Amino acid sequence: MPYHTITFYAYAARAFMRDRLNSRSFIDAYRQSSLKSLLRHARRHNPFQRERLTQIDLDNIRLEDIPPTTKLAMMERFNETISKGAVTLDQVVATDAGPHRLELPILHGKYIVHKSSGTMGNPSWMITGIRDWAILRGSTVGRMMRDWLTLQRAATTLFNPVRTAALAAEHSHSMTWQASKSGELWAGPFTKMKFFSVVDSVERIAVGLNKYRPEYLHAYPTAAEMLARYRLEGGQIDFEPGLMSVGSEALTQMARETILKAFPKTILVDHYGMTECLPLSTQCQHGHKHLNNDYSILEPMDASGQPTRPGELSDHVLVTNLINKVQPIIRYRVEDSVRVIDEPCPCGSVLPRVEVSSRKGSRIYLRNDRSDWQLLSPPVVVDTMLRSRGVAQFQLIHAVQNELELKFIPKKGETCEAVAASITDQFISALTRLDCSKSVKLKVVPVDVFQRTEGGGKLIQMVSLVPPPPATLRSAA
Ligand SMILES: [Zn+2]
Repeated sequence: MPYHTITFYAYAARAFMRDRLNSRSFIDAYRQSSLKSLLRHARRHNPFQRERLTQIDLDNIRLEDIPPTTKLAMMERFNETISKGAVTLDQVVATDAGPHRLELPILHGKYIVHKSSGTMGNPSWMITGIRDWAILRGSTVGRMMRDWLTLQRAATTLFNPVRTAALAAEHSHSMTWQASKSGELWAGPFTKMKFFSVVDSVERIAVGLNKYRPEYLHAYPTAAEMLARYRLEGGQIDFEPGLMSVGSEALTQMARETILKAFPKTILVDHYGMTECLPLSTQCQHGHKHLNNDYSILEPMDASGQPTRPGELSDHVLVTNLINKVQPIIRYRVEDSVRVIDEPCPCGSVLPRVEVSSRKGSRIYLRNDRSDWQLLSPPVVVDTMLRSRGVAQFQLIHAVQNELELKFIPKKGETCEAVAASITDQFISALTRLDCSKSVKLKVVPVDVFQRTEGGGKLIQMVSLVPPPPATLRSAA
C-alpha cells in the first residue's frame, strides 16, 4: 500500500473520531500545538513568512500580532513563499504550458500544483506537499463521512469498496479534479473513485451516474441542483447516493431543498473550503457548518481589520491552514462574509459553527438548443477561462437572456485578437457540451478596466442581470 494511502486513511480516521470523542479543550490544545509547529517551521524555512514572524513569541502566540497577507502579496514574491526553495514560479507555470493534459501536476515527485482564479479574476498558484495533501484530503473526507459511515459499512469496504464519484470541471489544476484523481490513484483498496465532467448535458451525466451508482457523490451545488431538478421533472436517475457533498460555490437554501426533495434518503453535506484551505468546515446533519478548527483557523474581520464580535457578519476573513508547510497560509485574507456562532449544536459536535453569507460568483441560466434551462455555473466559467490562453482578468455579463458578454484584459505581450480567439474557442467548446452552442450569442471584448461595485470596489466576476427561470422561482416559494 503506498505511503500516501496510509497517511490518507490514518488522518481520515482521526478526523472522524476526534470530533466525536474529544473535548473542546483537547481540540484547542491540538490546534495550538499545530500552530506553534507551523510557525516554527515557517520562520526557519520560509523567507516570506520569516519577515512576518520575527517578533512572534512561539511560547505565547498572539495571532493578531502577525500582519494579514493577501493572494497578491504572496503571488508577487511567490518564490519566497515556498519553504526551502522547493519549487520556483517558472517551474510551477510550466506545468500549465502546452496542450492541456489530464494528469496530476506534480513537481519533483513531491509537490502538487493548484491554480485558482480568485475573486479578481487573476489566476494564482498554490503548492502543497504530497504528504500534506494526503493529510488535508484524509481529514476532509473523515469529517464529510461523519454522519454517514457506519461501523458495518467501514468493516466491509475491503471486499466492497465505497463507490465514490465527483461531478465537477475537468481541469488538471482544479482542486476538485485533483482530489478526485488522487483518490483514484491512492484511495484504494477501500474506495473506488470515478470522475464525471460537469461540462456535459444533464442527460449524459445521468446515464453515466446511473451506470456507476455512486454511494457517495461530490458535486458543485449548482450541478447537484441540476441533477435534482432533472429527477423531479421525470428524468431518469435511478440511484440515490447515501452521502452527497457539495462545495466550491455557495449552496442556497433553495438548492438545498430541491436536492433533498429529489434525493430524500441522501445525507447532504455542504463543504465550505477553499484552495488555500481545503478542510475549513463541514456541515452536520442539522444543517450547521462546523469549523474544523483543529486543521485551520478562521478569523472573521470587520471592514477596519478588527475581529468581529461573536455572531456579527464579517467584511472578510483571515484563514490559516495548519497543515500546509511547503507554502504556509497564515492569516491570509479571503473576501468571504461569514458569522461564527459559538453555541452547542444538537449533533453533539464540540466544533464552533459558521454561517457563510456571501461568496464570489453568481449563476447564469441559459436556454439550451432545445429551449430547456441550462445552468452556466461559476466553476464551469472559471474552468473555461483557465483553459483560455493569455487572459490576465475577465468578467462575464449576462444582461439579455442568452446573450453573453465576456470582457477581458490580456496579459502583457499578448494580442487582443489572439486572446479573444482562444476565449471564443474555449467557450464554443463548453457551450457545445452544454447543448447551448446554437441558442447562445457570445461577444468577447477586450477592455482596459472593469466596472467595479461601489464601496468595496470589488470586481464581480460573473454578473447576471436576467431573472432566474420560473422553475427556480417556483421551488423558492
Ligand atoms: Zn452540528
